[in-house]
Amino acid sequence: MQLLGELISSIRIKIKIKGIVQGVGFRPFVYQLANKHALGGFVSNSGDGVNIEVEGKDKNLESFFCDLESLNPPLSRIDSITKEYITTQNSQNFKIIESKNSVISTMMSSDISICYECLAEMKDKKNPRYRYPFINCTNCGPRYSIINNLPYDREKTSMSVFSMCNRCKKEYEDPSNRRYHAQPISCYECGPKLRYIALSGKEQRDEKKAFKKICNLIKAGQRVAIKGVGGFHIVCDATNEEAVNSLRESKHRPTKPFAVMFKDIKSIKKVCKLNKKDEMLVLSKERPIVIVSKKENNFLAKSIAPNIDKIGVFLPYTPLHELLLNELSFPIIATSANLSDEPIIVDEKEIFSKMPLVVQHILTHDRDIVNGCDDSVVLNTKYEKITLRLARGYAPKSFHIKNKISKKILALGANQKVTLTLAFDNSIVVSPYIGDLNSIDSLDYFLRTLETLKRVYSFEPEVIICDKHPNYETSSFAKKYVKKHTNVELIELQHHYAHALSCMAEHSLEEKVLAFCFDGTGYGDDGELWGGEVFIADTHNYTRVYHFKEIALLGADIAIKEPRRVALSLLFESFTLEEILQMKSELIKSFKVQEIKTLHKMFERGINSPKSSSLGRLFDGVYALSGYTKPLGYEGESGLILESISKKSSSTQRYKYSLKNGVIDYSKMIYQIMQENDSSKIAKKFILTISKIIIDIAQKYPHLPIVLSGGVFQNSVLVSQVTKELKKINRKYYIQSDIPINDGGISLGQAYFAIKNTQR
Ligand code: ZN
Ligand code: FE
Repeated sequence: MQLLGELISSIRIKIKIKGIVQGVGFRPFVYQLANKHALGGFVSNSGDGVNIEVEGKDKNLESFFCDLESLNPPLSRIDSITKEYITTQNSQNFKIIESKNSVISTMMSSDISICYECLAEMKDKKNPRYRYPFINCTNCGPRYSIINNLPYDREKTSMSVFSMCNRCKKEYEDPSNRRYHAQPISCYECGPKLRYIALSGKEQRDEKKAFKKICNLIKAGQRVAIKGVGGFHIVCDATNEEAVNSLRESKHRPTKPFAVMFKDIKSIKKVCKLNKKDEMLVLSKERPIVIVSKKENNFLAKSIAPNIDKIGVFLPYTPLHELLLNELSFPIIATSANLSDEPIIVDEKEIFSKMPLVVQHILTHDRDIVNGCDDSVVLNTKYEKITLRLARGYAPKSFHIKNKISKKILALGANQKVTLTLAFDNSIVVSPYIGDLNSIDSLDYFLRTLETLKRVYSFEPEVIICDKHPNYETSSFAKKYVKKHTNVELIELQHHYAHALSCMAEHSLEEKVLAFCFDGTGYGDDGELWGGEVFIADTHNYTRVYHFKEIALLGADIAIKEPRRVALSLLFESFTLEEILQMKSELIKSFKVQEIKTLHKMFERGINSPKSSSLGRLFDGVYALSGYTKPLGYEGESGLILESISKKSSSTQRYKYSLKNGVIDYSKMIYQIMQENDSSKIAKKFILTISKIIIDIAQKYPHLPIVLSGGVFQNSVLVSQVTKELKKINRKYYIQSDIPINDGGISLGQAYFAIKNTQR
C-alpha cells in the first residue's frame, strides 16, 4: 500500500527561470537543492535562462520551491518562474545537463569584487591559491569585462586561451564545489600571469619580482599603471604630496579630484567621516567609488581633492588590489588611465603610446579585457543614494518589465556621460558608462559597446531614439543609421524631458508628474539652451511650466569654462556699465577694463552670446560672484565648491526671487549677493533659495508627484535640503537613485519614451 501511495504522490514539474541565472552558480544551487529535497530530474542553461525538471513528492517539491525563491545565489536575480505539470519519468537522480544554444535573452552579469571565501583562501598558506592574483569563484570575479558572447561559457570569454589544469578542471566539473562552472577559474599552474613592463621595453616575467618591483616604485613615490578588471588604473602613493602633484602636472589635470583606494574600512575611517549608509555602500559587493566627507586634518595629500570637503574612496575589488594594498602601508590614488574625456585604456600598449609622460611602469597580465568598464561612482544624501557613474559592478544593468515591449528599441543618450539603453521583449538593459563623445577614441568606444550589446543580445534595432540636439555625435549617428536602414524608425527627444522620463522609468511611473530637470545645458524645443526646467509631464508629452530666467553666455563655450563671464553677464542684466566698472569686487578686478567693455558690447548686441536657462550656469555665475574667478578645472567644480563652503555657514536665510509668466526670476538675488562678502553665506543662501523655489512651485501643484533629475542634483546639500522639505510638507517625490541622475540617465529616459510611444 505504501509503495502505491508513493507512486501516486510523485509529480514532475517543468520549470523555466529567467533573470540573471547564468554564470552565477545557479545550476549547482538547483542541483544541491534537488538533492536536499530528494528530487530527481535535471537542470540546464538555455539561451533565455535556466530550464529545470524536478520529480518527487508533493511536499518535497513544495519545500524545493520555497528554497529556490528565497535562497538563490548572491549574484543571481530571478525575474520570472513558470511552472508546468508534465508526465512523470520515474527519475531518481538529479543531473546537470550541458548548455543548449537557443535564442539569447538571459541577462549579462557585471564584474563582481572578490568574495570573502576567495579572500580567505588567498590568505591561507596551505591553499594552492595562496596569494594568487586571479583567484575567483562562482560568487565573484570578472564577467562583463571578459565576455565576448552569451551563453556565458569559458570559450566565449577571454579565458578561452587558458586550458585548465587537472585540479581546476576537477573543481570546475564538481557540482558540489564553489568553482563549479566558474568560467574564469584558474590557478598558478594554468592561469594568466603577472608581468612588469618598463617604457624602455624591458620586462620582468617572474611574477613575484614583477609585483615587488611595482610595489617598490610606488613606495618610492613613482606613478605606475596597473591592470584592473575593466581597464588600467594610474596608481601612486596617496599620502605623498609630491607624487600626487606631479601626477596632476603630467596629466594636465589641475583640480579634478582623484579616487583613493584604501586597504580596509578601518583605514578609510581614519581620514573620512562615514555614516552607516556610506559604510554599507563602500563594503557592498559592487565596490563602487563612494564620495564621502573628508576629516579636516588627515594625512592624505591635500592635492587629491583641492578646495572641496569630499573625497571618492573605495576598497580593493580584485585579488591583485588586495595583494597590493596589503604590501603597501598607505592608501593609493587609483584613477582611470585615460587622456581627459577619453575612454579607460584596456591595452598596455596604449598606455605608453598615449601617456608616456604620465607613466613609465606597468604591471599587467595576459587575461584580455574584452569590454572596458570604468569604476562606478555613488554618493549618499540625507535620504537617498545618488548614482553619478553607472559602471563596474552595476552595469550592464537590466530590468525586467511586465508588459512585453513591441519593438526593439535602441536609445543613444546625449553627448556627455553617455550610456546606451536597449529595450526588447521584457527587458531593459542600460550599458556601462561610455563617457563624453568628444574624441575619436571615445566615439570608437561608443561603437564597440554598441556592437558588444548587439552581439550578446542578438539585437537589431527597429527604433532608434536620440537627443534633439542637432550636433551631438549620437544624433548624427542615429540619422546616418536610419538613412542606411530605412525600416528603422527615428525619434528625437528633448533632453530635459528625457531626464524626467529617466526618473519615471526608474520608478515605473506612468502618471502625470511635476518634474524639476536641472542640469548644465541641453537643446530646447525653441533652439535655445535649456537647463533649469520645470515640466508637467507624463509618458507621452510635457508642458514647460517654469524655467529659470535666461543668462547670456558671453562667448558661448568659453563662458562654460569661465564662470566669471557668466557672473559678468548676470551683472550686465542688473547694473549699468558705469556701475559695474566702479565695483570693487574680486570678479571685476579679474578683468581688464577693456575686456569688460568688449564683453558688454557683446552682451548688448547679442554677439556670440547664446541665452541659456541652465541652473548649472547660474551655479557658475554665483560661484564667480562669490569670489572664484579662475576658469573651472572640471565640469561641476563650481557646484562642488559652493556645496563645500556652504557647510561653513549656519545661515537659514534665503534670497528673493519671483515667479512670473513661467519665469523664475532671480534678479533681486543678484542685487542681494552684491551686498554681501561672505562666500560661505552666499553659497548657503543660494542653495536654500533653489530649494525654496522647488517647494514653492511644488505647492502650486499639490496633486502631482514630484520628480527630481539632472546633474544639478548631484549636489548633496541641495538634495538633502529639498527632500527634507518635501517630506515636511508630506509630498510624494521621486529622485534618480540607481540610474545616473546626470546625463548618464538620458538613454533610459529616451528608451522609456519609445516603449510607451511605439506600437507594432
Ligand atoms: Zn570567490
Ligand atoms: Fe542633462
